[in-house]
Amino acid sequence: MNPVEINDELCLCDDTFLMIAGPCSVESEEQILEVARELKKTGVKVLRGGAFKPRTSPDSFQGLGEEGLKLLAKAREETGLAIITEVMDEENLPVVEEYADIIQIGSRNSQNFSLLRKVSRQDKPVMLKRGFGNTVDELIASSKYLSMNGNKKIILTERGIRTFEQSTRFTLDISAVPVLHERSEYPVIIDPSHAAGANRYVEPLAMAGAAAGADGLIIEVHPNPKVALSDAAQQLTVQQYNNLYSKVKQIAAITGKRLI
Ligand code: PEP
Ligand code: MN
Repeated sequence: MNPVEINDELCLCDDTFLMIAGPCSVESEEQILEVARELKKTGVKVLRGGAFKPRTSPDSFQGLGEEGLKLLAKAREETGLAIITEVMDEENLPVVEEYADIIQIGSRNSQNFSLLRKVSRQDKPVMLKRGFGNTVDELIASSKYLSMNGNKKIILTERGIRTFEQSTRFTLDISAVPVLHERSEYPVIIDPSHAAGANRYVEPLAMAGAAAGADGLIIEVHPNPKVALSDAAQQLTVQQYNNLYSKVKQIAAITGKRLI
């Protein structure tokens, strides 16, 4: 597997399992600082938080934009956590690049080839999510746009695909983990939160991902999920995240990985 160096202390390699956690969206200074402090205590090293949000409806909360990025930078300054945040379009790439430690490309942009080409020109690590209507091979093809200028710091993410099943928000394609490991050189992480769409399903899907040999997880965690401005139903409390963490740790150990 191609190792992905995130910063001087963090490397996603063959024997490590990366735990990324944080809210769906950055909502306020209080919210992001509180969750960052709590997550830091649990051992998290990478904080997620959306500032530019791809919402299905234009009437929904769209994120704080650059202000959200500044709040993430403040959380990093205080806690030392690395930051992952989504770039939604070419226009906001320069500012996202300025603040993020890992640039996230969301499911809806997984085949935005013009954005992928632009992101390929910078050298920060990139987390590429699978489009929910895309095959594994299409995801791999998208990753080739990202590496076209030599940046191989790429992390692939399975976050659920559209199927006829309606009981979860998307269907987590666990098979994608071994298949991607066979066909691609990049680490594969699982996003059980967006697949589940409901917090009670997040832990079992996370454990399944670890058992299938994934290289990490990205989990939505909010200090008070009930009042979250986006994806309220699927976000975990810090306590629920802690429970998940201890179970995943044991499963990852079976696959020869230690949590980072
Ligand atoms: C997210 O992670 O914030 C997100 C919007 O996820 P996805 O692109 O997988 O829907
Ligand atoms: Mn979300």
